[in-house]
Amino acid sequence: MTWPEAVRELVDLRAFGKCEYCLLDQADAGFPHQIDHVISRKHGGTSHPDNLALACYLCNRYKGSDIASIHPGSSELVRLFHPRQDRWAEHFRIVGPVIEPLTDIGAATARVLRLNLPARVIERKLLQTLDRYAKA
Ligand SMILES: [Zn+2]
Repeated sequence: MTWPEAVRELVDLRAFGKCEYCLLDQADAGFPHQIDHVISRKHGGTSHPDNLALACYLCNRYKGSDIASIHPGSSELVRLFHPRQDRWAEHFRIVGPVIEPLTDIGAATARVLRLNLPARVIERKLLQTLDRYAKA
């Protein structure tokens, strides 16, 4: 999808150029960050900025049109993290190079978006040594 320049700029600036799911800085990504429909269009989400988030290529790819997942313990439906309505630090924390979920929402999001795939953790560890990624 091609976005109007003003929308792209708003989403970039609002997120300080970082993926709103894994916090990877756009400057450190191999592919440009993308604009994610937090609630995908097929689920009725709009292209209003309140439903848009900056996402790195991998987070956006793994999230796809998903908006929820199944809690592994209770089998209940758990919605994914919503960058416009939720605070990142309430649902996740950084432990070493790992993004550790703090809530069911964080756990569902980390699983669906594969936030802690070994290659992603290694990349974060490297970025931390370069002071390019937050440290715990
Ligand atoms: Zn990401």
